[in-house]
Parts: sequence; C-alpha cells; structure tokens
Amino acid sequence: MWVSQIISNYFLHFPNKSNRSVMSEFPPCPKCKSPYTYESGLLLTCPECGHEWSAEAVKAEESSSSDTLVVKDSNGAILQDGDTVVVIKDLPVKGYSKNIKSGTKVKNIRLTDGDHNIDCKVDGFGAMALKSIFVRKA
Ligand SMILES: [Zn+2]
Repeated sequence: MWVSQIISNYFLHFPNKSNRSVMSEFPPCPKCKSPYTYESGLLLTCPECGHEWSAEAVKAEESSSSDTLVVKDSNGAILQDGDTVVVIKDLPVKGYSKNIKSGTKVKNIRLTDGDHNIDCKVDGFGAMALKSIFVRKA
C-alpha cells in the first residue's frame, strides 16, 4: 500500500521537476542521495529508495538561519542583543577628531541588519553603529 502511494506521489510531483528547483527546496535523501525528495506530511520522502525521515530538524535549522539575525564577533562567537563587547582596534569616527580606542567596552549592544551590524552607545561618542568584525564579546 505505502509503495503505491509513494509511486503516485512521485508521478504527481515529477512533472514539476523541470521548472522548479527540487534540490534547493528539500535536502537530498540521506540514504541514497537522491535529489528528488519531497514533503509528505511531516516527513520527507525519497521516491527512489522509499526512505522517510523527519523534516522538522531541517526546518528548524532553516528558519533559524533565515529569520534570525546572526551576528558574529571577530572570534566567530555569536553576539546577542544586550551583550557587552570590547573594541579590538582603534576605530575612526566620522565627525570626531578622536578614535574609539581599542579596548573600549561597549555595553548593551543591539544587533541590526547591514554592514554596520551593531547599534550601540559608546562613552564619549554617543549612538554609534559598529561592525561586528571589530569587536569581541566581553
Ligand atoms: Zn533515497
């Protein structure tokens, strides 16, 4: 019974193969590496070997990487809103004759999307946008 179900699903999905990217939508079969996997309820199903596995873990990973902003410091540690970071090199600031000195502690950062991905307040400078590659987690 389940075999015929898989086969009918296979042929229902197969005509779409040419005009959409199946590979990027679902991961390949972990057993036989077939790229023609498709979603069947909560499971991913491989039409070629019949292997079924949970898509939940995969989905959780996908949504966390696409919906959640991940900002890493100079060491690759993941930063979070409210963290305290330390500036690792002197940073020139537009409109100021002085630099933000290496070693300056910056409290209560806020992560943003973009080139300068940390919003914060720096003592003596005020509101500032920094690049996460120039700081490390305190
Ligand atoms: Zn397979």
